[in-house]
Amino acid sequence: MSNNEKAGFHMDPEEFRRQGHALIDWLADYAANVEQYPVLSPLVPGDVANTLPLSAPQHGEDFDDIMADFERDILPGITHWQSPNFFAYFPANTSGPSILGELLSAGLGVQGMLWLTSPACTELETRVLDWVASMLGLPAKFTSRGAGGGVIQDSASSATLCALLAARERASGFQAKRTGPNGRLVAYCSTETHSSVEKACAIAGIGLDNLRKIPTRDDLSMDADALAARIATDRAAGLQPFFVCATIGTTSTLAVDPIPEIGELCDAEGLWLHVDAAMAGTAAICEEYRSLHLGLDHADSYCFNPHKWMFTNFDCDCFYVSDRQTLTKTLTILPEYLRNQATESGDVIDYRDWQIPLGRRFRALKLWFVLRYYGIQGLKHHIREHIGLAARFADWIRASDDFEIAAPPRLNLVCFRHRAGDDFNRALVDKLNRSGRLFLSHTTVRDVYCLRLCIGQTHTAESHVAQAWRLIEGTARQLAGSG
Ligand code: PLP
Repeated sequence: MSNNEKAGFHMDPEEFRRQGHALIDWLADYAANVEQYPVLSPLVPGDVANTLPLSAPQHGEDFDDIMADFERDILPGITHWQSPNFFAYFPANTSGPSILGELLSAGLGVQGMLWLTSPACTELETRVLDWVASMLGLPAKFTSRGAGGGVIQDSASSATLCALLAARERASGFQAKRTGPNGRLVAYCSTETHSSVEKACAIAGIGLDNLRKIPTRDDLSMDADALAARIATDRAAGLQPFFVCATIGTTSTLAVDPIPEIGELCDAEGLWLHVDAAMAGTAAICEEYRSLHLGLDHADSYCFNPHKWMFTNFDCDCFYVSDRQTLTKTLTILPEYLRNQATESGDVIDYRDWQIPLGRRFRALKLWFVLRYYGIQGLKHHIREHIGLAARFADWIRASDDFEIAAPPRLNLVCFRHRAGDDFNRALVDKLNRSGRLFLSHTTVRDVYCLRLCIGQTHTAESHVAQAWRLIEGTARQLAGSG
């Protein structure tokens, strides 16, 4: 049968094998040559859309043609997150074992909503999350051996929403899920907290007006005294404080909130403490950064993203609770069609009750592959490398007459700026990113514009960071000369 005659039928196992081998070859070549592409896609809005037909094809097409169109029309619109010259935002790094684990998961096509719908999907996840808890030095209460346990969410945003909902139910005696929140519940975060907390408050019916953004101290961490004062003011006004989100590694500058102090306050006030360690949590694998997790014994929930800095491709957030019953009682709904003996025995975990959607992917497979392929020692090695490279970059900034450090460098992030002012720095980052040779992002630190260089890509080596610094210095000189 010719390719055209075959088009429209299911792909048979032999064609799948042939195309699958070719696709893996394509991905291996991509990984080997990723530095040849402009890191930030140079396309303008509409460029990709204009290449695409307005409707789906009536008849099936040949797979080779689809791949050819992918290379011609889609690839130019890719920003190459896996380039070793990608230094923007926080990383979303990946690795061979993770990609292959993800492929295996796709091939198995498991939907693991219940233990019954794939016992391995649930039991592997429980065990792997216990491994990770112990690797990160999390309190034992967050493991399945204690009263709590871990679950993989798609993102830190979902983890925060689940934590907020469970906190809302605990605070309302499980009435809010029946009648809606009472309008008096108040949540707290800092002015530096990730926007996902705001989004969660909007979704959970807490209301943005009932989220207090507590000011920060000089180091941009939450001011625990200001938090205590605000809680007291709210109580005096007849409101009901119920939830605090503290961050280990804020998005802008990797500031670390004082978890022990905030935790003691939450204990005393009976508030749910959620700790968001989206990227920085990974560093706690290394003993020398384990102190990041001090105070977690006070926390009710915790999350971090292996899909940021632990070589596990998006999406994979590890979310832990200290009391699994509160979470499952918050999120469970059991229609007749999902009833089964295993669930009713009470002997199994049904992860559908630990998350917002019903269905769930077999994400534990890729995480298991990563942990086994690298081992804890391998992961530590790479994390230490990244942190060492960031320290070297910070030294170059300190030694420069033209640039300065804009916030205390932490772990793998350096916030810095040219001394020539905000407009110059804006022009600098724009020119650098348009060069295609690296990708940096920016933030503001106390209203001052600065550049961020975050080192977390799997294959970033000293040569890439040194090349980035030469490019930054050289581009700044050109701009200063032309200005
Ligand atoms: N929390 C922090 C501190 C973050 O930096 C981010 C994203 O960078 C998030 C939460 C949101 O992560 P996600 O994309 O997994 O929802």
